[in-house]
Amino acid sequence: MNRFYIWTIGCQMNKADSLNLSAELERMGYRPVSTPEEADIVVLNSCVVRQSAEDKVVNKLTNLKALKKTHPGVFIALTGCMVNSGTNRLKERFEHVDAFFKPQQFRDLLSRIETRSEPGPWSPARAALESVTAYIPIIQGCNNFCSYCIVPYRRGREKSRPMAEIIREVVQYIECGIREITLLGQNVDSYGHDLPDRPDLADLLTEVNQIDGLERIRFLTSHPKDMNRKLIEAVASLERVCEHISLPAQAGDNEILQAMRRGYTIEQYVALIGRIRATIPHVALSNDIIVGFPGETAAQFGRTYDLLEKLQFDAVHVAAYSPRPGTIASRKLKDNVSAEEKQDRLKRIEVLQESTSRGINHRLVNRKVEVLVEGKKGTRWQGRTRGDKLVFFEDHGDWYGKLAQVNVTHAGAWSLQGTPLIESAMVAGTK
Ligand code: SAH
Ligand code: SF4
Repeated sequence: MNRFYIWTIGCQMNKADSLNLSAELERMGYRPVSTPEEADIVVLNSCVVRQSAEDKVVNKLTNLKALKKTHPGVFIALTGCMVNSGTNRLKERFEHVDAFFKPQQFRDLLSRIETRSEPGPWSPARAALESVTAYIPIIQGCNNFCSYCIVPYRRGREKSRPMAEIIREVVQYIECGIREITLLGQNVDSYGHDLPDRPDLADLLTEVNQIDGLERIRFLTSHPKDMNRKLIEAVASLERVCEHISLPAQAGDNEILQAMRRGYTIEQYVALIGRIRATIPHVALSNDIIVGFPGETAAQFGRTYDLLEKLQFDAVHVAAYSPRPGTIASRKLKDNVSAEEKQDRLKRIEVLQESTSRGINHRLVNRKVEVLVEGKKGTRWQGRTRGDKLVFFEDHGDWYGKLAQVNVTHAGAWSLQGTPLIESAMVAGTK
């Protein structure tokens, strides 16, 4: 028993959790494989934030039944947001699963499997080493209880990690070749309120910004009600912190926002975006939107559409409302927007956003952007700008992990293409 396979779906927090679990298993002497058939331990890291994600997990779990029949010795574990406190129903439904553990409760799993050797010193998972970017969870859980959302029920209340522990992890990642880190939280801008000396995200960014060897710092996902002036100013002034903020509005109508229990009005949200844009030049902003929330009328949807058209976000992730059992909305509000209407609204936002993103990106043509090169796709190098835009370019040099100054030649809605400037090859990676 020494090979493991982890399948992951869902948010960056899940991806980070899977990499941490991989690292722990590798330190205990296990090695990763790329299919469940080759593995002795199979872990599914699940997401149930929407029905569509849950369906994929159920599908994957069902497929594993056949594997358990042909390889009865395989140890199958389920983690992520599908697992809540009472696992009896899950156990009845998926008898072939050997262990259920809540997000990040790796100890529960590790105590159930045979230890190959004493865990070695900290090192990231092999998969993380194949990258120049890493995710670091800094605050777990969420206290907000937006009426539609299952996350607080499955990931529990907010719990911040001490600053010293985070800094140590950043330094360790840099020593392993990581050049960009993203600090993660469901509600990242409420970081620190539960720690003894109450540091905040701006304090943490200030500390991380001083660490040599790191090129870039990002953070995800911010809640509009917790985004304050100090944080905005920190993003503007700290040179390693990217000018990129993910600030979900979820809706553009006050009644819907109230029913969602988001804790701000649309006027406050618009004013906040104005403050951010006035303080951080060239800031890139992304948004999450839910369409077809219970009771959402055509006029209310229209206000969400207008908000996006007016504020011009660099990226928008749009989802159709999906009732999640146990949440306030699913208990109290009727899911009364038809599936067709939800799809129609979703499509309209997607079409709008495609044209907005194309327009924003088009303005970058013939301009120079800084790209952190993450690897190759086919013959082309691929990386991201500070504003998180995907960039491709052709070049014979070795750009892996380096900063390239790229002159943008073409722009589409979802990516840019360009040519690296010759002189940047000389200085790349030395910053
Ligand atoms: N903490 C973040 C996002 C967490 S969930 C925030 O506050 O925005 C990720 C995204 O999934 C949300 O932004 C929301 O747009 C979407 N989502 C969450 N619950 C949903 C539901 N029941 N139906 C449809 N989309 C949902
Ligand atoms: Fe869910 Fe709201 Fe918390 Fe985001 S802030 S995780 S949407 S409850």
